[in-house]
Amino acid sequence: MDRALRERGQNGSFDLEALEFAVRDSLHRLGGSFLEQFLNTEWQDTVGCVRCKQQHASRPAGKREKKLLTVLGEIRLERDYFHCAPCQEGRIPKDEELDIVGSRFSPGVRRMLARVGSKESFEEGRQDLEFLAGIVVTSKQVERIAGGRRWSSLDLEYCRELLPPSHLYCRFVSCSPTDCGCLETSFPGKFH
Ligand SMILES: [Zn+2]
Repeated sequence: MDRALRERGQNGSFDLEALEFAVRDSLHRLGGSFLEQFLNTEWQDTVGCVRCKQQHASRPAGKREKKLLTVLGEIRLERDYFHCAPCQEGRIPKDEELDIVGSRFSPGVRRMLARVGSKESFEEGRQDLEFLAGIVVTSKQVERIAGGRRWSSLDLEYCRELLPPSHLYCRFVSCSPTDCGCLETSFPGKFH
């Protein structure tokens, strides 16, 4: 703010657009720090017994860290990791609760990626996301999250009316179609 006012005094002109973007970037960074702090310190990870898919009790095996891109920028996330010895598999309940299993993108970012990917080319979507929301991704990431195909708005409207939001959300926005077969079950043949 001070710099913008100084420049106005020196040059006699004021670049409101530059100031808008600068303030937005600052607020994103501030919000990102808040989110990171909240999710790492205020958030209580699952307590008690965590079971695997076969219902074995899994034991805590330390913390795992990952980077997560949110609508407020990239944050660092710590999560408790649980391991099942008989199955040789791990679970991270916090990821499940936050809906970020196997994803480096938050639900908010995934929704944006899916939205731009369904309406325009993946490269145009990438550019719009950066300009409009300050989110920097690659066009490949837009393509992957948007499901690798262009969903028509008609498809989306049709499903929105018929499917529970959680199902619609997970199918359209998750990285892997194998996570949820709800659309395939509800509309056999329509989406493949
Ligand atoms: Zn197990």
